[in-house]
Amino acid sequence: MYLSNRITGLTGNDGDGWGLFLRAREMIAAGEDVIELTIGEHDISTSHIILGEMDRSARGGHTGYAMVPGVTALRDAVAARVEARTGVTTTRDNVLITPGGQAGLFATHAAVCDPGDRALYIDPYYATYPGTIRGASAFPVSVEARAQDGFQPHAEAIAAAAPDAKSLLINSPNNPTGVVYSHETLEGIAGVIKAQDMWLISDEVYDTQVWEGEHLSPRALPGMKERTLVVGSMSKSHAMTGSRVGWVVGPEEAIGHMIDLATHTTYGVAGFIQDAALFALEQGAPLEEEVSAPFRRRRQQARTAIAAQNVVRLVPAQGAMYLMLDIRATGMSGEDFGYALLEAEKIAVMPGESFGKAAAGHIRVAMTVNDDAFGQAFARLLAFAAEKAQTREGAA
Ligand code: PLP
Repeated sequence: MYLSNRITGLTGNDGDGWGLFLRAREMIAAGEDVIELTIGEHDISTSHIILGEMDRSARGGHTGYAMVPGVTALRDAVAARVEARTGVTTTRDNVLITPGGQAGLFATHAAVCDPGDRALYIDPYYATYPGTIRGASAFPVSVEARAQDGFQPHAEAIAAAAPDAKSLLINSPNNPTGVVYSHETLEGIAGVIKAQDMWLISDEVYDTQVWEGEHLSPRALPGMKERTLVVGSMSKSHAMTGSRVGWVVGPEEAIGHMIDLATHTTYGVAGFIQDAALFALEQGAPLEEEVSAPFRRRRQQARTAIAAQNVVRLVPAQGAMYLMLDIRATGMSGEDFGYALLEAEKIAVMPGESFGKAAAGHIRVAMTVNDDAFGQAFARLLAFAAEKAQTREGAA
């Protein structure tokens, strides 16, 4: 039977970048002891106090259909959180609760792009971006943020791709690079967005994981709240990846448009999950800090280890739960290095090439195992790179 091109063509010609990850999972299933530093999944579970609230809500009867735009109290809480963090007036009418940030990425593109419209995104990118844009029937166009610029995108490069584009998707703090976009970068982007009359889709799911500097939401820049859709999520901030709860914040009319979409697709998010998310937000910064603290510690561990050698270079990582390592001194591609590391050391990382062309010659390390295991794995990774670099020098 015929199956739609929309879905068979979702990943394009480049594959979906998950080959090494799947190989690691196969090895684990075969009983091998692989250390997984691949996906953005915490090594802790959702806090028991959040689960307690989920249980209380479900047993209390919040198991029927919830309101499609989201439970009013949660929409209010998200609006208050966003307003407190950005200074931009935000009400529940600016908020749609979604089943995770991923659904928000789809809804935003579906809301602002018609079939075939050009939708820009920055390379390196979170693996689902181009497929999500295709899923919304738009045409993904990548704009490179270069390694030599510290992976900060340039306004000129965006402007060159912008004519006729409907939207630009950015992500700061960034997955996979760990880079937090500077004020200058965001102001440059905002300038292009306004000049070209485009939408900015700002994926801010790592906004509680900032290790240096500060996170600026571009919605707070002058003239941007009318044309910015912010994607947020409880997945990373509260270790609630499996709960599938996030949001989109934007102008009321665009949110109304996405509520219509939600009515015909997701039909909202489970009420007991939303109650748990509300409870989690009400715990404020201390809970968010507790969830992000392990990544801050491990980043410091990695920086100390990196400083003691000169083969692997760390892309200055100011945020998110990942480190992007430049392994070009080994003479290997990120992909070859990743597979060789997996076979030799049983350590799984993501090749930079999984995240686009701009991250070639890099690997992404997720800091998602306990401190001891992380420290040991990181030391082995560096020793492996040193050995490869030496072999290369010997051959030269
Ligand atoms: N955006 C980025 C940059 C991500 O890294 C992820 C998940 O890893 C998501 C969005 C989607 O997260 P979720 O759907 O769990 O909120």
